[in-house]
Amino acid sequence: MTDRIVVTGGAGYIGSHVSVSLLEAGKALLVIDDFSNSCPEALRRIEEIANAKIEFLKADLANPALAEKITETVRRFRPSGAVHLAGLKAVGESVEEPARYYRVNLNSALTLVAALEAAGAKRLVFSSSATVYGDRSQSPVSESAALGPTNPYGRTKFFIEEMLRDIARADPEWKIANLRYFNPVGAHASGRIGEDPNGVPNNLFPFIAQVAVGRRDKLKVFGGDYPTRDGTGVRDYIHVSDLARGHLAALDYLAREKSPGVIDVNLGTGRGYSVLEAVAAFKRASNRDIPYEIAPRRDGDVAEIYADAALAERLFGWKAEKSIEEMCADTWRWQSANPDGYGR
Ligand code: UDP
Repeated sequence: MTDRIVVTGGAGYIGSHVSVSLLEAGKALLVIDDFSNSCPEALRRIEEIANAKIEFLKADLANPALAEKITETVRRFRPSGAVHLAGLKAVGESVEEPARYYRVNLNSALTLVAALEAAGAKRLVFSSSATVYGDRSQSPVSESAALGPTNPYGRTKFFIEEMLRDIARADPEWKIANLRYFNPVGAHASGRIGEDPNGVPNNLFPFIAQVAVGRRDKLKVFGGDYPTRDGTGVRDYIHVSDLARGHLAALDYLAREKSPGVIDVNLGTGRGYSVLEAVAAFKRASNRDIPYEIAPRRDGDVAEIYADAALAERLFGWKAEKSIEEMCADTWRWQSANPDGYGR
């Protein structure tokens, strides 16, 4: 029988790649998205890549007036579980508008939990983040490291994880995986779907890609005096298609295991690259110049963070496979074929 999964935020950057992975594994999908940071064209391209149809509900999960409609639609879909990716994700914005971040992210998670409960589908993969770790964590960071996010966005991820832990504790029928992403980058190898940020990109890869394609003059490298090998920040970049496969592996694990309750699992590669190493790799992949200047450190950044990725391999039999070269080549294929993203 076909496995049926709800994917919230399924039209977004990570959601579109997760949707492709799940469809290609033969699952039927109900995507719930409000297109606040995505668009219908992404859904069309997902269907084209996977050669499969998606059921779709356009809805803001945080809108209480839509909760009943959402529950009804989820119930009728008869899912076995859900992947929850819908949410606001800009760190800077979350500092400016914390109440909106808490309202949207927490309410969305609670609405989905209620809908899954009504549908009798108590299986959930949650899109969490390595930002839940405290900023004094030693890398490689394992899942048992102290938690302590340093901004409202990170705290929404942390609070949702905590809520899910309480929910699973109260009702052992729930099977939940909090997936703590490191730095997802890259695009589908077809170049048809990829990251299409609103306005000026906050993240390194979309910024580099827009410099390479000529949309921006130069990259500002935030900090050149960190205690790292070349003075610039080190992160664990993971190809978004590897990350997407991690969600499939997590769902399969939750379906297979009798009693995991809640598991917290890092999705990373286990190795770090500096900003300048990423720039050099992108330059090689794109054959374009990437002008940059060293700028002051950005508030809240740590010098270095990368994953201990052993648990995902032990539990799910999953590990990241794609190299930094593929991350750059695929980002470039997407960016050069779609210089204005989806043209939203
Ligand atoms: N970074 C940078 N210039 C930019 C954006 C990011 O130098 O325009 C650096 C940032 O300081 C960090 C790394 O690139 O060391 C990754 O930043 P990103 O915002 O992509 O992810 P984060 O790890 O902060 O979530």
